[in-house]
Amino acid sequence: MIEKTTNKLKLIIAPDSRLNLVSKPVDTLNDNTFEILRQMLEIMYTRNGIGLAAPQVGILKRLIVMDCRLNEKENKVYKLINPRILDSSQEVSEYEEGCLSLPTQYAKVIRPSQVKIQFINEEGKEITKVFRGLESTCIQHEIDHLDGKLFVDHVSRLRKNIIIKKLIKYKKKNI
Ligand code: ZN
Repeated sequence: MIEKTTNKLKLIIAPDSRLNLVSKPVDTLNDNTFEILRQMLEIMYTRNGIGLAAPQVGILKRLIVMDCRLNEKENKVYKLINPRILDSSQEVSEYEEGCLSLPTQYAKVIRPSQVKIQFINEEGKEITKVFRGLESTCIQHEIDHLDGKLFVDHVSRLRKNIIIKKLIKYKKKNI
């Protein structure tokens, strides 16, 4: 069960220990789940993001929203409940990644080009789907969040430390 959220959800900016925690699976789909997903999409669109995971708004549940929007015909809005990676390709891709929780920071990250994902959709149906290109990178980035991992955990410790220091400065100025 997800605790009742009547409050407006707020984006968490790194460094914040809540972003390093492992989220729990969702066991019941109810109005509260749908409200969390709705608010997550709203926050994602407001900040021009392409994906958002529940721990980024302080909810430690395995929920993800995604809309990569590069090709309106192919890409669509996804609300994924309890997503998990069933299979990853040997082939890899490199993308310059950013994150709404790490504003103004970017780094090149190498990940499998394709992933087969199993998830529950909003209707409670179990779906298995192969994601490619930007959607593949995005979904892996978001599943990382559910396991308490950030994209900076994929780069060198030196680069990570530089980014974290910049974020500490950013938070002092902006929050
Ligand atoms: Zn992120």
